[in-house]
Amino acid sequence: LPTVMIIGRPNVGKSALYNRLIRRREALVYNTPDDHVTRDIREGIAKLGDLRFNVLDSAGIETEVSSGTILGRTTSMTANVLARTQFAVLIIDVRAGLHPLDLEVGKWLRKHAPQIKPIVVMNKSESIGESLAEVASEALALGFGEPTAISAETGLGMTALYEVLHPLLEDYMVQTLNDRCSQDDVTSEENLSEEDESKLPLQLAIVGRPNVGKSTLLNALLEEERVLVGPEAGLTRDAVRVQFEFQGRTVYMVDTAGWLERTERDKGPASLSIMQSRKSLMRAHIVALVLDAEEIIKSQRSMTHSEVVIARRAVEEGRGLVVIVNKMDCLRGKQNSEMYKKIKEAVPIEVQTVIPQITGIPVVFISALEGRGRLQVMNEVIGTYKRWCSRLSTGRLNRWLIKVMSRHSWKDFASQPKIKFFTQVKARPPTFVAFLTGKTQLLESDIRFLTKSLKDDFDLGGTPIRIIQRSVL
Ligand code: GDP
Repeated sequence: LPTVMIIGRPNVGKSALYNRLIRRREALVYNTPDDHVTRDIREGIAKLGDLRFNVLDSAGIETEVSSGTILGRTTSMTANVLARTQFAVLIIDVRAGLHPLDLEVGKWLRKHAPQIKPIVVMNKSESIGESLAEVASEALALGFGEPTAISAETGLGMTALYEVLHPLLEDYMVQTLNDRCSQDDVTSEENLSEEDESKLPLQLAIVGRPNVGKSTLLNALLEEERVLVGPEAGLTRDAVRVQFEFQGRTVYMVDTAGWLERTERDKGPASLSIMQSRKSLMRAHIVALVLDAEEIIKSQRSMTHSEVVIARRAVEEGRGLVVIVNKMDCLRGKQNSEMYKKIKEAVPIEVQTVIPQITGIPVVFISALEGRGRLQVMNEVIGTYKRWCSRLSTGRLNRWLIKVMSRHSWKDFASQPKIKFFTQVKARPPTFVAFLTGKTQLLESDIRFLTKSLKDDFDLGGTPIRIIQRSVL
């Protein structure tokens, strides 16, 4: 959070403003100029409308200057307090007009913290009337611009103070985030180069209902009989984990033992494999969901309820998703050619409709039995894995953001929060933070638009894309 220090000569109302900002009522003890006890600077979190910032009350250091010489403060106001302060509110007492000590405070600040340009406020203005304008013009002599009239006691002028502080704090927040993220960018990209990443083993889970051909596919991919294949549902009872190399990359592959329908049907030994399936789903980077083309033709729908459930769960868990339609060999022959065409057209559309959480889900049509489409499966799996590991630099994302914002037809534009800044905080899966100004959140439709644009513009098909919303202030 940005830090704002309240400064001013004794008795102008620093503590009153501090208390109002942190919303605490405290006895005002600082109007005893002969109190020689040095108090610490008080610090708290200020709330002013939707603004949040650290506020420092410098009233505690007044005791050393009871003689009236402001210079005494310099010793108390340690360098480290000033170093972590970005903003200051300089209070003057409007009833006294501009006091010589106010000018001294200004001078002091210029000397010790030249980076801070304070906001000047005229306190105790609740009952002042006409002379307000007079004092306001006197206050220009401080050299810090137009003063703002407030009353810390009554709360008058807090909106005006908000309006002055808001743009300053907001710019500061965005700037620091920018700096921090561009540093993160460099390190994260250094830490995980494309080459490093390809060395990491890929965890692939093959899931699907019993008998769709998972084990057959596994064997086809391994090109050897390592997994039992049989016609009875539930034959491959335990999850099988095998390791192989594909294009120089280690792949751990798990056949999750047709757990879907069994979940409802069988509470016996299969429940163990269900648990294992779930675990391997959690561990997997990419989930390959196998569908049965014959079943699709019979039932006239691409996915059963349980297949939709597992696909959605995989996405919710943050896994990449590839859909495989197996047994395409069953649709060979003249009488089936229409079906073949239809299924190739319809399945990708239907899959995308029932799993709207991610876009660009790859769909591969294969015959595991004949070993057709193996390479395509692996290419899509690895492609999706790479997209799942994508890292986009903050600079690129924010250039993109400007373009994409102008493309979107925002609903109810006036009440829309503004996206100030967009950055990727994490990969595997790609996770972004949208920093918003104001209190409101993005609408569901805006999130969908951003997600789809990210997918289209940066080629992120088949991987979940997460967007976290943060308020800048
Ligand atoms: P799993 O329960 O999903 O592991 O299914 P299996 O791999 O055990 O296969 C179930 C049955 O479907 C076996 O009889 C396989 O021979 C058969 N099968 C698997 N893949 C194909 C395919 O591509 N085409 C055809 N026609 N049959 C297949």
